[in-house]
Amino acid sequence: MYIISSKNMLKQAQLGGYAVPAFNIHNLETLQVVVETAARLQSPVILAGTPGTFSYAGLENVVAITRALATEHRIPLALHLDHHETLSDISHKVNQGVRSVMIDGSHFEFEQNIELVNTVVEYAHRYDASVEAELGRLGGQEDDLIVDEKDSMYTSPEAAVEFVQRTGIDSLAVAIGTAHGLYTAEPKLDFARLEKIRHCVDIPLVLHGASGLSEADVKRTISLGICKVNVATELKIAFSDALKSYFIEHANANDPRHYMQPAKSAMASVVEKVIHVCGCEGRL
Ligand SMILES: [Zn+2]
Repeated sequence: MYIISSKNMLKQAQLGGYAVPAFNIHNLETLQVVVETAARLQSPVILAGTPGTFSYAGLENVVAITRALATEHRIPLALHLDHHETLSDISHKVNQGVRSVMIDGSHFEFEQNIELVNTVVEYAHRYDASVEAELGRLGGQEDDLIVDEKDSMYTSPEAAVEFVQRTGIDSLAVAIGTAHGLYTAEPKLDFARLEKIRHCVDIPLVLHGASGLSEADVKRTISLGICKVNVATELKIAFSDALKSYFIEHANANDPRHYMQPAKSAMASVVEKVIHVCGCEGRL
């Protein structure tokens, strides 16, 4: 079995009216949890790592473990570069076997974003690697901005059309009011904007910052055209909370084969829940 691009996975999701979850992984245990759960539910799945994840765990290690898990569980896996920012970093990882990339030039001006994305698309497509790019900015670090500025950071449908045409990307991450990390206040998503973008852009759309959104909100974005849902923070919280509880109850525990189990189970429950919300169970 292989490490595949996410292009076909997301196209199938778009046709089928469901979404594929992208789960951020960090180490052996989190990779095992996502793949075991996806295999059990026969769900397509994307394993995502930020540049920090790959520096922490080691690129070769992550690629090798992903390949081994794909073989063991007999499911194709997309290993995805989440929020990568340079062509040199991306090309290095594509050369090592990664086939799904996100180039995040969303902090640049429109023309500069296009220029950067084009260089990555040209490189990645030679290797059949799929490319996601982002237009508009997500909240998170930008929480202290005033409302007008926030509004101007949302993805413009008109700009999205031009962006997709001029870059040839395979999927587009949109900013419609979600944020990375946890929400301090109830997020208000701009569903009308998403509907408009879906209407005029025909490639799969990606939702970042799904941790902490209500299931109803995530389902609604999927019904309006979201084909990939990114989940990171929610997994980290489930894993670390269970680990902390275990050590509180077993202060002398020192065997990772024991103390990792409750953390893995807690994370698996979140993975399973997200797969259900995305409607992708049995879609392999
Ligand atoms: Zn993101």
